[in-house]
Amino acid sequence: MSAIMEIINATRGNCACGVKHETTIKDIRIGSGLVHQVGAILKENGFPKSILLVADQNTLKAADGILESLEGFAVELHIYDNLRVADMIHVAELEEKIKGREVAILSVGTGSVNDPCRLAAARQNKMLCIFASAPSMDGFASYSSPLVEKGFKASYPAKSPEVIIGDTKILANAPVALKSAGFGDMVSKYVALIDWQVSTLITGEYYCEKVAALTRQAIDELMVLADKVTENDEETAGKIFEALLKTGIGMSYTQNSRPASGAEHIISHVIECKELIDGIIPNYHGDDVGVCTLETLKFYDALAQRAQIDTRYEDVDWDAVYRFYGPMAQDVRKLNEPENIIDLVDPKKLKESWDQIRKIIRSVPSCEECKTAMKKAGCKITVADISKNEAFFRECMYYSPFMRKRMTLLRMRYMII
Ligand SMILES: [Zn+2]
Ligand SMILES: [Zn+2]
Repeated sequence: MSAIMEIINATRGNCACGVKHETTIKDIRIGSGLVHQVGAILKENGFPKSILLVADQNTLKAADGILESLEGFAVELHIYDNLRVADMIHVAELEEKIKGREVAILSVGTGSVNDPCRLAAARQNKMLCIFASAPSMDGFASYSSPLVEKGFKASYPAKSPEVIIGDTKILANAPVALKSAGFGDMVSKYVALIDWQVSTLITGEYYCEKVAALTRQAIDELMVLADKVTENDEETAGKIFEALLKTGIGMSYTQNSRPASGAEHIISHVIECKELIDGIIPNYHGDDVGVCTLETLKFYDALAQRAQIDTRYEDVDWDAVYRFYGPMAQDVRKLNEPENIIDLVDPKKLKESWDQIRKIIRSVPSCEECKTAMKKAGCKITVADISKNEAFFRECMYYSPFMRKRMTLLRMRYMII
């Protein structure tokens, strides 16, 4: 059994947090030259003879040799040209192809190729294998699929794949920009862990120490590899991939993205949604998320400088919020009315807990430490690096907390004086 499967199994089952952690993941293989063994691995895991292979031109090319490895299977190809934005339409197309048949999906790629597959396989109750083409984001093992529907991007509960394969030769050979983006997505876990712990402290939100520890371990392991990220090095690529899987598994254990996504992912999501309206193709997920992480950490670090705070009830100009969201306003309104998550925060408790909140912020590396590591890893660092106008970025950051029913320290900022 692979080391990563042992880690998964150690956290699987009944947990002290009160939840039974389950995942559909049966097998994870990480190794050199695995592209030639895909068919054999599927067979071992009881996949049916008919396979729908989903990829785009780039990912299929990266996985050279995969078709030969599937000898003996009836393989049908579903190849996109260059899929950068995964849409509900793609899910419907896939569902149409697999409905009522004894067939499994083999998804060759990263986020935008895998996400429609994850939901189509879940809805039609089919087995799913993900063959990773680049270590570019942490969604491989995850349970949910971020997808666009009628221009609005949201996360849909789907399923984790039964089998995940990472060929270290292919992962190491992936474009440097994708590997750096994967690193940026991982650094965000520090903000996610701050937000999760602060919310648990203030609102009593569910928390699992084991899952938080798994996430923390994954990012800490990766931080020390920062200067090797851009190299074509199989061992490093394998480790990055393993770290990305660990946080994905954490998400599948809590059945939400809480352990791996905090205020920074929400900011990046708002940017992406605003750009979708304007027809702009988004950057790599990890590029935007990485910069949002640094900006959030900078804000949190500054908060932690304050020995004491005063608090008040939230006083938000809702007209300005809905004006900012424009065509999305109706959806955003539903997230804030009639119940508003901020009602869970007692200003008195927030003030009294300030010492503990400062400790939580300081339990992770500072913005400067993360920036240094990200520079080494070739990541985008500044708002200008991700081609955003500074004023637009600030606005997205300011209004982002209303876009999601998720408590973050950034959301509590309006109560802090
Ligand atoms: Zn637990
Ligand atoms: Zn992410």
